[in-house]
Amino acid sequence: MENSRDRELGMHRRITRRDFINGVAVTAGAAMMPWHLIGETPQNSTSYYPPALTGMRGSHPGSFETAHSLRDGTFWDSAGKPEDTGETYDLIIVGGGISGLAAAHFYRKAIGNNARILILDNHDDFGGHAKRNEFRINDSLRLGFGGTFSIESPAPYSAVAKAVIEELGIDVPSYPKYFDKNLYRSQGLHPKIFFDKETFGTDKLVVNFAARGGWNESEDAINQPAELLKRFLEEAPIAEQAKRDLQNLLEEPKGYFPGLTSDQKKAKLARISYANFLMTVVGAHQDVVKIFQTMPHGLFGVGIDAVSAQDAWGLGLPGFDGMNLDPSPGKGQNRDCIPNEEAEKYFFHFPDGNATIARLLVRKLVPGAIPGSTMSDVVLAKANYAKLDDANSSVRIRLSSTAVRVKHLGDAASAKEVEVTYARGGKVYAAKAKNSVLACWHVVIPYICEELPDKQKEALASAQKVPLLYTNVAIRNWTSFQKVGANAIYAPGMYHSGVNLDLPVSIGGYECARKPEEPIIVHMMKAACHPGLPARQQHSAGRMELYTTSFETMERKIRDQLARTLGAGGFDPARDIAAITVNRWPHGYAYEYNSLFDSFWLEGTETPCEVARKPHGRIAIANADAGAYAYTDEAINQAYRAVGELTKS
Ligand SMILES: Cc1cc2nc3c(=O)[nH]c(=O)nc-3n(C[C@H](O)[C@H](O)[C@H](O)COP(=O)(O)OP(=O)(O)OC[C@H]3O[C@@H](n4cnc5c(N)ncnc54)[C@H](O)[C@@H]3O)c2cc1C
Repeated sequence: MENSRDRELGMHRRITRRDFINGVAVTAGAAMMPWHLIGETPQNSTSYYPPALTGMRGSHPGSFETAHSLRDGTFWDSAGKPEDTGETYDLIIVGGGISGLAAAHFYRKAIGNNARILILDNHDDFGGHAKRNEFRINDSLRLGFGGTFSIESPAPYSAVAKAVIEELGIDVPSYPKYFDKNLYRSQGLHPKIFFDKETFGTDKLVVNFAARGGWNESEDAINQPAELLKRFLEEAPIAEQAKRDLQNLLEEPKGYFPGLTSDQKKAKLARISYANFLMTVVGAHQDVVKIFQTMPHGLFGVGIDAVSAQDAWGLGLPGFDGMNLDPSPGKGQNRDCIPNEEAEKYFFHFPDGNATIARLLVRKLVPGAIPGSTMSDVVLAKANYAKLDDANSSVRIRLSSTAVRVKHLGDAASAKEVEVTYARGGKVYAAKAKNSVLACWHVVIPYICEELPDKQKEALASAQKVPLLYTNVAIRNWTSFQKVGANAIYAPGMYHSGVNLDLPVSIGGYECARKPEEPIIVHMMKAACHPGLPARQQHSAGRMELYTTSFETMERKIRDQLARTLGAGGFDPARDIAAITVNRWPHGYAYEYNSLFDSFWLEGTETPCEVARKPHGRIAIANADAGAYAYTDEAINQAYRAVGELTKS
C-alpha cells in the first residue's frame, strides 16, 4: 500500500529525496555537492551558489552540528588547538543575518568606511532568516523567500530602521506598482479552507469566511461577510451545532463578563487562552475551536490554546464585539495584536522577501559582490560569493563558520581586544578584534561567551526561538488551483497549515507567473507546535521534531497534502512538482512575550531581553531576540543600539 501510494505521489520522481544526501541536492555535479560533505568550504569557488540549492535548506545539514556539540559539551573534546589566522579587525560580528549586516553598516557610519570588519555565519549563505530560494523550471526562473517575507511590522518602523531602508534605495510606497493585486481574483481564485478527513471526517475544500488581514486578504471577506459565511456554512463538513455557534459568534456576539469594566474584562481575557474563551465563556462546539486552532500559526508559531483571548481580540478574531471593550491596548497585550494603520501601510514584498534587504546591505558592504545600484536591479543580480571573503575588502563575510568562543583578552573592563574562535570545515581558527557584536541567536550566546554574568546568560537562554517550516514547492503550472478556485488555502488539520500561490510581484525584469499554464512557486507554512503545553515548551518540542524529521518524511507529507487539496483540480504530484525546498527553521521567529505564560509581561516589570542585551566590555549584543520582537526593523534597531554602545566614547 505504502509503495503504491508513494508511486502515486511521485516519491520515485527524480528531483528530490533520491537525489539528496541528507537533504541536499547533488544532481548538478560537484558544483552542487553539499559543502560540509566535501569537508571543505569552497565559498571562494566560482560555482558556489547556495540560493540555487533545493532540498533541506534553512538550518541545513552542516550548519548546526558544531553549535549543538558545543551545547552538549563535546565540541572541545575533538576540536584541537585553534589556529591563529593572524587577522586583526576593528569589529567581528557573529551572525550574518539582517542584524549582523546592519551592525556592519552602522559601524562603518560611526568609524568610517575603512573600518575592518569580519562577519561570521554558520550557514552556507548570508542573510540569516532572510534567505533567497531560486528555481529553474524549464526556461523560467522563479524566486522564492526561504524565510523573512516582507517589510512589514505591527508597529511603525523606527526612524533608524526607515533610514536604512531608504539608504538601501527601497521605495516602500512604490510597492503597488510591482504587485498585481487583482491577478488571482480576476482568474476566479479566492481564499479557501481545506477540511481534512483525520480532523473533520472528510476531505473538502470550502470557501474561507475569515480571510481578513494579511497578504491573502479576500475582498469578499471585507465587503460581503454575511454572504461568504452563508456559503461557508452551506458547504462546511462540521456539526450543525457548530454552524449555529459559529454564526452566533460572528453575527451576534454576546456581552460576556457583564458587570465588569473594560479594563477588568481585558485583565480576564489576558489570562485565558482564546481556545478556552471559545470553549468555556462562549460555549462553542469543538468544531469551531478546531477551525480557529491554527489561525495564529503564521504570527506566533502556536495555536489558539497558547494565545490569550485579549490578543485574539486585538487580532480581530470573533467573539468580542458585544463586550464593549475600550479600543486602547490592554496590559500584557502583544505588540503584534495592537492594530496600527500607519504600520499597515508600510509594506513591501520582493520576490525573494527580505533577502533583498540582506543582498542590498551586502552590496553596500562588499564592493563587487552583487552588481548594480538600485532596488530593482538587485532582484535579478547574481551574487558573486567568491568576493565575500576577499582579503582586499575592508568588510569580509565568512560563511560556514560557527563562532565557538568569544572572549576578552584580559579583564572585560580593561581589555584592548576580543578574541573570536570559530569552527570551519572541520578546523578551528581564532581571530582578534577591538570589538565584537553578537548578532546571533541569543540561546547560543551562553555557550560561546562564558564570561557573561550568570543572570544575563539565563536571560539569553530564555529566548526560545519559534520553530517553523517555510516550504517552497515549484510546480509546472497552476491550472489545478484555477480549477478549484483557490489561491490561498488554510488547512487547520494538515502538516502545513498554509498553502499559498506566490504573491504576484514583478520587478527589475523579474516576471511573476501570470497565466495558469506557467510554472509558479507554492509557498507552504508549518508551525511545529505541541498544543496544550506552555508556549516555550511547545517551541522546544517543535524544534526537536524539525531536527529529527527526515526530508523524505516531509516530502511525502507535502505531496500528500497537495494531492488531496488539489486533486479535484487535476493536480498530479508525480507530474506537476518540479522541485521542493524545505526551509527548516528550528530556531525561527524571536520569542515574543505572552501574557498567558510570562508574568513580567503582564506586570510591566523588567523583561529578559533587557537583561540579555546588556553590553559587556567590548562585546555588545544585537539580533531581533534583543527586542523580543520577530521583525526586520527590530533586527536593525538592535544592531544600531549595540553598535552605539561600542562606539559612543
Ligand atoms: C520563517 C520566518 C519568516 C519571517 N518573516 C518575517 C517577515 O516577513 N518580516 C519581518 O520583518 N520579519 C520576519 N521574520 C523575522 C526575522 O527573523 C527578522 O526579520 C530578521 O530577519 C532577523 O534578523 P537577525 O539578524 O536578528 O536574525 P537571523 O536572521 O536569525 O540571523 C542570525 C544569524 O546568526 C547565525 N548564528 C547563530 N549562532 C551563530 C554562531 N555561533 N556563529 C555564527 N553564526 C551564528 C544564525 O545562524 C543566523 O544566520 C521571519 C522569521 C522567520 C524565521
